[in-house]
Amino acid sequence: MENSVKKSNEHSGEEDKERDIQENNNGHMCLAITNCNGETHAKLDEIITHYEGTLNQKISHFLGYPTNQNFDYDALAPLLHFHINNAGDPFMGSSYGVNSTDFEISVLDWFAKLWEIKKGEYWGYVTTGGTEGNLHGILIGREKFPDGILYTSQDSHYSIFKIARIYRMQCIKVGTLINGEIDCADLKTLLLAHKDKPAIINLNIGSTMKGAIDNIDMVIETLEERGFPRDRFYIHCDGALFGMMLPFLEQAPSITFKKSIGSITISGHKFLGCPIPCGVLLTRLEHINTLCKDVEVIGSRDTTISGSRSGHASIFIWYALQKKGLLGLENEVHKCIMNACYLKRKLRDAGICTMLNEYSNTVVFEKPLDCEFIRKWNLAYEGDIAHVVVMQHVTVEMLDSFVDEFIKTRLRKPLCLADKIGAENCTCILHI
Ligand SMILES: *Cc1c(COP(=O)(O)O)cnc(C)c1O
Repeated sequence: MENSVKKSNEHSGEEDKERDIQENNNGHMCLAITNCNGETHAKLDEIITHYEGTLNQKISHFLGYPTNQNFDYDALAPLLHFHINNAGDPFMGSSYGVNSTDFEISVLDWFAKLWEIKKGEYWGYVTTGGTEGNLHGILIGREKFPDGILYTSQDSHYSIFKIARIYRMQCIKVGTLINGEIDCADLKTLLLAHKDKPAIINLNIGSTMKGAIDNIDMVIETLEERGFPRDRFYIHCDGALFGMMLPFLEQAPSITFKKSIGSITISGHKFLGCPIPCGVLLTRLEHINTLCKDVEVIGSRDTTISGSRSGHASIFIWYALQKKGLLGLENEVHKCIMNACYLKRKLRDAGICTMLNEYSNTVVFEKPLDCEFIRKWNLAYEGDIAHVVVMQHVTVEMLDSFVDEFIKTRLRKPLCLADKIGAENCTCILHI
């Protein structure tokens, strides 16, 4: 049904209207809350069942965003009978007794091991997502260096620029190389021009659009070379997607607290796959003491950005880690990377400009012209480029039909994308 609705919709306002009316008429999509006596169970069940069908349909074509849709938390269904709230600092306990902070701390311990920081030396919490992790990490940097300047590459996630505005921090955009990683030569020049102020640096461990990894070692080297010793800079690592993947890839750059970094964050609903948005933030314990205030009403320390926090989120993450194990995670990372290579090869063989960074599952290519095709496959795009993020639910069959359809709807010669993804990845008449 979803399909026939989509096909009849050729983006004209008239037809859009007609579709809305159709969906309202058959009653399924009418979600307006109007019944004073409360709606019947039967009616509500019908709506939810229909919505479930829509979701299944969407997921079968879901390629553009880095969320893993392949999971099963049915065993946790009994926990939906409880409101579990982890308000406050997970390490201080809370007077709100219905909490899951024991699970939360197990999760944090697991990440501490992954990123090589000892228990007792780290602090962290389960956030509402990567954005809150970034908010917290950059706040630590700002509190440490109130007059510091935030440096971040132009390819950073939009949350970083928003955070700079929220905190009213001076934010300097650093250029990127063609592959999307931070350009240390540009950073060097910018640092030199602002030598008098400490540096707070956000690094992309997997940039959103191109899946590029900023080089932590080279950034630290650049800082030191430019006269910024350890006590004059703070580095936050935004590892939303790759922070969870790189530790499982041999030879990949290591993301570790053994380097001079201050904090790392990941999104729990990206690689791990959680039904609700969540994330993990880890930092050094020493940084937290400057942030905290005791709050009597919750019997805890106020070290987190949000007050009430989902207790279910910690349990979802805990359950996923327990169930998969290190080996399971490693297999999933390898599978995603292999399928990403497969997609890159298929697109290239079809004469389509395409780029895939090392250690990345984000395949970048020319933005398709057909809006319906973009919508159907839920592609994300920016300017002339689009991408597919090959997650666990993406099968070879999905990729095959995606490429077949792309070729059929393409109807144009390759665009020159040499300046966006590199001449070696470009298939235009000049570069092939
Ligand atoms: C997705 C993403 C974020 C934001 O994560 P949310 O969980 O959506 O808040 C931050 N940084 C990068 C690089 C991302 O890809």
